[in-house]
This record gives sequence, C-alpha cells and structure tokens, in this order.
Amino acid sequence: DLRKALEWAEKEIVKVLHSTHIGNEESFVDYESKAMHVSMADHVGMEVADIAQIVAFGFPKAKPDTDLVPTGFGIVDTKKPVICVVGHNVMYSRPIIDYLERSGRIDEFEVAGLCCTAHDMTRYRSKAKIFGPISYQLRVIRAGLPDVVVSDEQCIRADLVDACSKMGIPLIATSDAAVRGLPDVSDWKVEDIVEALVSGKLKGVFLPVPEKVGEVAPKVAEEIFKRNKDRKYKFFASDDELKAEIAKCTQCMSCVFTCPHNLRIDIGMAHAQKTGDLSKLAILEEQCLACGKCEQSCPKQIKIVNVIMRSNFEKLYAKTGKTRVGRGPIQDTEIRKVGQPIVFGQIPGVIAAVGCINFPDEMKSIVEILEEFLKRKYIVVTSGCHAMDIGMIKDEEGKTLYEKYPGNFDAGCIVNVGSCVSNAHIAGAAIKIANIFAMRPLRGNYAEIADYILNRVGAVGFSWGPYSHKAASIATGFNRLGVPVVVGPHGTKYRRAYIGKPWKNDKWWVYDVKSGKKTFIEPAPDSLLVAVETKEEAIVQLARLCIRPNDTSMGRQIKLTHYIELSKKYMGDLPDDWHIYVRSEADLPLKMREELLKVLEEQHGWKIDWDKKKIVEGPLRGYDAGFNPTIVEDVFAKYRR
Ligand code: SF4
Ligand code: SF4
Repeated sequence: DLRKALEWAEKEIVKVLHSTHIGNEESFVDYESKAMHVSMADHVGMEVADIAQIVAFGFPKAKPDTDLVPTGFGIVDTKKPVICVVGHNVMYSRPIIDYLERSGRIDEFEVAGLCCTAHDMTRYRSKAKIFGPISYQLRVIRAGLPDVVVSDEQCIRADLVDACSKMGIPLIATSDAAVRGLPDVSDWKVEDIVEALVSGKLKGVFLPVPEKVGEVAPKVAEEIFKRNKDRKYKFFASDDELKAEIAKCTQCMSCVFTCPHNLRIDIGMAHAQKTGDLSKLAILEEQCLACGKCEQSCPKQIKIVNVIMRSNFEKLYAKTGKTRVGRGPIQDTEIRKVGQPIVFGQIPGVIAAVGCINFPDEMKSIVEILEEFLKRKYIVVTSGCHAMDIGMIKDEEGKTLYEKYPGNFDAGCIVNVGSCVSNAHIAGAAIKIANIFAMRPLRGNYAEIADYILNRVGAVGFSWGPYSHKAASIATGFNRLGVPVVVGPHGTKYRRAYIGKPWKNDKWWVYDVKSGKKTFIEPAPDSLLVAVETKEEAIVQLARLCIRPNDTSMGRQIKLTHYIELSKKYMGDLPDDWHIYVRSEADLPLKMREELLKVLEEQHGWKIDWDKKKIVEGPLRGYDAGFNPTIVEDVFAKYRR
C-alpha cells in the first residue's frame, strides 16, 4: 500500500536534485519553490517509513500513555553487558531484542541507544533505554559504557570506528548507507564473526543481515564485558592519570580557536594546574558538543573531552531522567476534541519542538521554553533528539516534563510522537484538523489544506539548538504546509529565512469567501522561517506566530494575552506590534483592557469611546464571525460557487 507513495516521493526528490545540477534553474523563487516541494515529499517519505515500522514492528499506535523509559548518561547497570545501538534505522538492531527474548536473557543485558534508533528501540520494547542525542556519542563511548556498538545510518560520528577501537569496543555497521570501510561478513558464520570481533582481529564488521546482528551483538557484548567490567563510567583509570593529563597543557589556545564554541579550555586547565580545582573545566561540559575537534588540534595530544567530562562527572551522571515512549500518530478522536478550539483560538497554539540540541545548557533552555507553554495550555508536540533531551532534565522534585504533563494531544499536554520520521504525524495532525474538523477533502488537495492551516491552525514549529540538514528539510516541509518555524541561533547556518514585511500593508490581504471580497488583514503569521538568538526571544516569537486571521474574538484575546504577558515577562515591555492584531476591544486581554485602550489612543492615535470602553476608529479591520479567509484563488472560486 505504501509503495506508490514512496515511489512518488523518490521520483520527486530525484527530479529536484536534477534541477540543482549546473545549467538548470536560475531564479531563487524556483529554488525556494522546489525546496518546499522536495521537503513536502520528504514528509511523505517519513510518513511511509513510520507507518511501515509501526505496522511491521508493532510500535505503539497513537497511544497517549506509553511507558516511561530511562534516559541519559547514567542509565547503565554496570553489572550487565551493554549493547549500544546508534543511528536512525531500527530495522537492523531490532532483532537483538528478539534474540534476547527468545533466549530468555533480556534482563541480563542493557540495550540502550543514541539518536532516533534509541527512540525506535523503546517503541519496540520499553525495556530498551535512551542514552541521548548525537553529542552523547563520544560521552558514552569514552566512558566505556558499550561492550559492543551497532550502527545503522544518519547522525553517526564520522570517526566511529576509531572512537570505538581506541576503547576496545567492537563495532557492527549494519546499513549499506554507512559501511565505514569495514569488511562485509554477511556470508560468515555467526561464531566466526564473534571470534573475529572478540579477539580483536577485526575492530569492526559490516553485517547488513538483521537476524545475524541479533545474535552476534549479544554474544560479542557478553565476551567483551567479561574483560572490561571495570572500565564503565571511568574517563580516566585514576585521579593521578587525570592530573598528569592536565599537567601537559601549555595554554597554547589552539583548542580554543578550533572549538565551535571557543570554550576557554586553556583557562580551565591553568586553574586546575595551579589549584587542583576542576570547576573551571567542569562548567565547560554544559556547553560542550563533545565533537572532539579540540583534541585534533592539541599539540600535546591531551584527551580534552575526557578531562572535561571527568571534571563534571557527577552532574553529567545525574542528568538522567525519563522519556515517554514515542506514541506515533494523533488519533482522530483527539482531533475531534481539539479541532474547534484550535481553529477558533481557544487553545492558543500547538508548539512542535523538533530537531537536535547538542549540549546540556540548551537542553535546560528547551525545557524552560516548553514548560512556559504547557502551563499556558498550549499543546506541545515533540520528536527525535528534542524529545530525548526533554527526558533528561528534571525539576526540583526529580520529575521530567513527561512525568508532569499527560501525553494526549490536548491543551497542556506534551506528546512525543517518536523518532525523526514520526514528524510526519505532527504534520498529519494539522492536516487532520482541516479534514476531520472542517471536512476539507484530502485527495489531491494540498493547496487547500495548506491554505486552511496557514489561515486557521495556530501551529508553530520550533527547532532549538544546532539544527541538522534533516531538521532543515522537516522545517521547510512544515512551511509548505502553512506552519511557521522558529529556529535557534544555530539555525542561521543554512542562510535561509522566510521573513515577511509586516509594514507593507498593501501586501497583506486574503479573499473572504463570505463577502466575496479581497480583505486586508493583519500580518498573521508574518514569517514562515525565522531565527532567534535567545530563549526569551524564542518564547515571545512562538506566542506571536500562533496568531491567525481566523481567530475568534475569544481566541484572539487568549492569544494576545499570552503574547503580551510573555513579552512583558521576558522582554520587560509590551511588544512593538501587539496593536496590529487588535480588530476590536473584544480582542484585548480582559485584565489589561483599560491600560491597552489608553496605549492605543495615546501612542497609536486610535479613537476610543471611553463611556462604552469601545474602539471607534483605528483597527485595520473589524471582527466578523463569518470571516472565511483563503489566499488560493481556486479555493475562493470553489466555495463562492
Ligand atoms: S569537544 Fe567540546 S571543547 Fe572540544 S571542540 Fe568540541 S565543543 Fe569544544
Ligand atoms: S591545545 Fe592542548 S596544550 Fe593547547 S591550550 Fe588546549 S589543551 Fe592546552
């Protein structure tokens, strides 16, 4: 059933790739159009992938109360062999669980993952655990936690073979997308592969045979564990070894210039040399990507990553919490319940946190940002690395957001849909609102659906932290669907943005199906892809971009209340543009109504009837309960007929 959709997506992607060849397109408009098209095709591909694995592997099917699974650096029981899976395609590592269950030994092993394969392992069996995102790869390997690593594809370190072999950890590469220069042992007997890896004759193998991987990985892990029991959670064998490593530093600063964050490793080392105090090295861990670039540039070959991790070990270990297992799609019954409040604006918005946070400081920020919206009864949806980062940060009572807020698609709830490919269910929820709540037909009708979402569904995508190519494509796919996306400071590296010009009043208009007229509107949303620098800016921008032309008075009042309150709380003042979203006094936040009417009169020259507390003159347009906006001419013509 899925083949047809997948073939369409593949064909479109190849066609667009062709147009990037020299001698084809020339206008940026056509490139942008194709970027949107290919990212939409990517969403189709993601949906195909996730539906296939949900069905074939029996993942949770739209279940809001899935299990909570341990997440973070400190999850490993050091008395058990550890099998670590890394990548984004669980097909190859899933048989490990099957083999252990068949042999009745699942409780004797730890199976934990990095990146989206981790999510999907937990969706397969909630006995699996999650180490963390890409930045945790070196943390986990250098700490000697895995007894074997099984890699598949995407977001895997390019030096994985080297990183594992230096720690004596055998590597099994499984996907032909990432063979890693390892010998293909598909035809070998299981015993021979195990022997070659355990003896060290081979540091790794390419084994694209899932059933064999299922048997080889536990057997290798068991043998390696026997001889390496004591190395887990040790970045250095002893404190003397750590001290000797720090003593080698000459403060040449080569590492500082190479570090993407220019972390002052030299200062931390000098302070530790003089005083023995590791605190100035420890604080670096919170901002360290664990990329290892500093080590490549160090003339003294100091294991800088190990020094930093060891210095902050207790905090790193304690950053361990729980993630709610990815639930997959949103149910139709949930959409029936929330469709109207979202479209009318009573549920102020849907915040979809998607992407890759790569250092601990940013993990704390995203939890703060999302909790602000959860408390205000927005719906929060998440997936991929953002979803596992959230599972590591606990409050004073030791609870993560997943333990504090329910997993339904409803106001004040947080939904983990699953891995990166599960993002298609977030787009799917927006599409279902147009289809189930508003009865807009789906087949061959993308423009109308996207138009409906752009004008009515207050959903905003959010990608905090370093932003991968995949997240960039996902964001552009959301843009194509009429969903704006806010990215953190690292999101600017793609040099792309869709930022409107709200001051050009003549550019902001829609067709109103009810009146049959072109109607000038407030610019909502005024941007489709915008970068912010701080978490405060992110919070205010997210609230602002949830405003839609179709909001009812009550909906607009709720959205403006949050926008204004958040701006006052985080920016210390009213936002510059709040007044352009006011259509009548009924849109104004109740508890600030008088104060805001005064500002409208004094600062914006609006006329106010103070006896009736009504706006007499000023807004661009009034509120009309039957307003039915569209920017698509065909849709306008269709519903006017
Ligand atoms: S591993 Fe950490 S300290 Fe070293 S270069 Fe990367 S971010 Fe900087
Ligand atoms: S590059 Fe090495 S020696 Fe130079 S400051 Fe950094 S850690 Fe010290």
